[in-house]
This record gives sequence, C-alpha cells and structure tokens, in this order.
Amino acid sequence: MDARLEAIRNTVLARNPGEDEFHQAVTEVFESLGPVHDRHPEFLEGAVLERLCEPERQIIFRVPWTDDAGRVQINRGFRVEFNSALGPYKGGLRFHPSVYLGIVKFLGFEQIFKNALTGMPIGGGKGGADFDPRGRSDAEIMRFCQSFMTELYRHIGEYTDVPAGDIGVGGREIGYLFGQYKRITNRYESGVLTGKGISWGGSLVRPEATGYGTVIFTEEMLKTRGQSFDGQRVVVSGSGNVAINAIAKAQSLGAVVVACSDSSGYIVDEAGLNVALLRQIKEVERGRLKDYAVRRSAVAYVEGGSIWDVDATVALPCATQNELGGEAAARLVRNGLVAVGEGANMPSTRHAIAVFQDSGLLFGPGKAANAGGVATSALEMQQNATRDSWSFEYTEQRLTEIMVGIHRRCETTADEYGAPGNYVLGANVAGFVKVADAMLAQGLI
Ligand code: NDP
Repeated sequence: MDARLEAIRNTVLARNPGEDEFHQAVTEVFESLGPVHDRHPEFLEGAVLERLCEPERQIIFRVPWTDDAGRVQINRGFRVEFNSALGPYKGGLRFHPSVYLGIVKFLGFEQIFKNALTGMPIGGGKGGADFDPRGRSDAEIMRFCQSFMTELYRHIGEYTDVPAGDIGVGGREIGYLFGQYKRITNRYESGVLTGKGISWGGSLVRPEATGYGTVIFTEEMLKTRGQSFDGQRVVVSGSGNVAINAIAKAQSLGAVVVACSDSSGYIVDEAGLNVALLRQIKEVERGRLKDYAVRRSAVAYVEGGSIWDVDATVALPCATQNELGGEAAARLVRNGLVAVGEGANMPSTRHAIAVFQDSGLLFGPGKAANAGGVATSALEMQQNATRDSWSFEYTEQRLTEIMVGIHRRCETTADEYGAPGNYVLGANVAGFVKVADAMLAQGLI
C-alpha cells in the first residue's frame, strides 16, 4: 500500500477499534488508490480519504418488541449514513444475529463506491439489527419491523435516506416497515423505501436484479476472453434472494448450476438445480435446503461443510462476507475455475482475492458485480418520482445496460491505470474518483 495512504488507513483503524470487517473493506479500497493520489494531489490536500472514512451520521437505537409468548425482547438497531455527495443515502437493512456496527460500516463503506459506479444519483448508507428472523412467526416479524421503524422514520425520507432489503429483509419486511412509516408520518411517500410490492409502488425486476446483475456482469467478463456462461459448471453459495435469481439467470444463459447452500449445509444436484422447487422451499415455505434433497432424487445434501469443496468453472458467492477463504480459492483454481462473480458483499477474504488475482482468472468484486440491486432500486425511485411503472422488459433492459456500463467503467479504468483485467482496481478507482470530485466541489462538508 502507498505509504501516504497507509498512514491514513492506520489512523482509521485506530479510531474504529474492533470493527474487523470495516477495517478489511477500508484496507482493500486503499490498496487500489495509490496511483489516483499521484494524479490527483488535491484529494490528499482536501483530506478526502479521512472524510470518506468517517460516516456523516451514525444512529444506534433500542428496538423493543414482544414475542408470541408475550415476553419482552430487546434488539439493537443501526443506520449508518455514510456519504451523500452523489445523492440521498441509499443501502439496505440487514436483520441477522451477527449484525454490529463493524458490519454495518463495512457494508455502508462499500455501498458508497458501488452506488457511484452505477452512475445513478445515490449516496451510500446501510443499516440493520442484530435480530434473528429465523423461526419467528409473521406476527413477530411485523412487531419487530414496526418497532424498528418507530425510531428509524425520523432519520429517513425520499430526499434524505432510502433503505431497502439485504440479508433477512425481503418483500415481507419492507411491507411492514413501509406500513409503519406511512402510519407515523401520515404520508404515502413511495420513494422512502425500495423493494416494495409491485401493487404499491415497487418495481418489476427489483427482486431479480442483484442476482441477474451479477450474472450479466460475469458474462461481460467472460466475453473479454471469448467465453460465456453457456456450458459452464456453476456453483452458487446461499439460497436467498441473490442466489436464487443468480441461479435462474445463469441457467437461462446455458450454464449448469450444480450446487447451492444455506447456513446449515449445501446440496449438489448434478442434473442442474430445479429453480421452481428451490423457490417453493425457500421463498414460499421459508424452509431449509435439506428439504430439497428429500423431494428430488439423486441429490446429495451435505450438512455443514463448505460448498466450495464442489468443483466449478464459475463460482458465484451469494451468501455472506468472508465465506470463501484462501485455501478454498486455491483448490477451486487448481480444479479449473475460470471466473468468480461476487453476488454477496465481500464474500472472498483478502487471501482468496489474492489467490484469484495471482492465478489470472476473471474476478468481479461485489461492489461492481452486485450493483444491479441498488441500481434497480434507483430505477424504482425514478418510477416513484414520476408516479409511473415500467414493464418487466423495459426495466430489465435498463438493468442490463447499467451492468454492461459498470463492467466497461471498471475495465477502462483498470486499463487507464496500467492494470488491465484488474476489476478490483477498476471498481475502486472509478467509484472513488466520482465521489471525491463531488466532495471537493461541495466544499468542506
Ligand atoms: P437472503 O437473506 O435472502 O439470503 C441469504 C442467504 O445466505 C441464505 O441462504 C442464508 O442462509 C445464507 N447466509 C446468510 N448468512 C450466512 C452465514 N453467516 N453463513 C452461511 N450462510 C449464510 O439475503 P440476500 O440474498 O439478499 O443477500 C445475500 C448477499 O448479497 C449478502 O451479502 C448481501 O449483502 C448481498 N447483496 C444483497 C442485495 C439484495 O438486493 N438483496 C444487493 C447487493 C448485495 P440461511 O437461510 O440459512 O440463513
């Protein structure tokens, strides 16, 4: 890392002790930015990096609710409004027991650059709670969401901060959150949340967008080497919103997707995963992946273990951060991996990224490859602002154009900085320069 940037990075780490994921995200971005500061000394003079690493606002709040047995439960809610240089804070809410400030800050930090890369007018933010939705009834989920919004509503708004879903927050939760916002504010403010239901202000393609976008980005990478998804053997981790839609899109391009996972284990279906059955079990029944193996023949279910033990030519990690380590990466590379497209945020450890990059395979980092979700959220905001709703075909075409544009931006930036094919550098530099220019133009804020 450039010595000037390393000094700033060390100060950021010391100011934010114990936030390992945030440290990791900051370090990974700083490693790309040395050459940018050679060309743009004004960024150092204006202390852009120091400002960028300090969120504009951080909100931590108590979320009290009662469970079905009438017991009082307390969770901790977060919203980190990281950077508004390009537009209102934008980024999802995560409900998962592992959530703490360090995870929300890593996600919010990544979101700044991701949102800049989309070319849409959105700043970066992220939020969530250490609430575990697994095993909770609909009524408990609703009471939790209502309590969460009873504090969050005062901090968000169409022109201020626009949350969406992430792990543990899908259409059902956005519905309860929106209902409570409307009730408290007495405003039908569609643009305050994205990922809404289609009949009440949502956008077609939003549920599919992150997974589809990841596959579109990865297909663009493959094209640079005269390849495509057609005939690839694909492994996708996770079986949530991003994973299932990535599986569907990869199959539509001719890939054979043989495995996916949840936090209990993974399944291997050599005939190719049956997406309709996956959707039935995970989205309709909210069940576990092992049910898939019970209902379909010739499927192996492996309890525990790592899905990255399954060989693939294309890997799409779509579950969670740091799920793919260096050893797994090395094994995949030895066994014929040609491309990785990150559907999740920071799923590959720094060691794994180094292995992928050293091997020369195509590696698409999450902040570029999974930007289709937030980009389509911005399209939902556009439709809300004009009280319009677009067709599936038109919205999907816009998503495709955006993903192709992000790929091109990463590719040309990497070329321009003498690192052809390095999508990590391309994404970090292109996103950073756009935000840094806007921050300097807006004065010392
Ligand atoms: P979902 O909650 O729909 O699905 C998450 C999936 O990942 C589930 O299969 C879950 O398994 C698994 N998972 C979660 N945590 C862990 C863990 N600690 N270990 C193993 N498996 C785990 O979330 P999404 O699909 O929305 O999000 C997946 C990833 O994509 C996240 O990194 C998210 O930040 C990122 N992302 C999501 C976007 C979106 O639009 N939704 C946009 C951009 C990025 P189980 O059911 O057992 O918990």
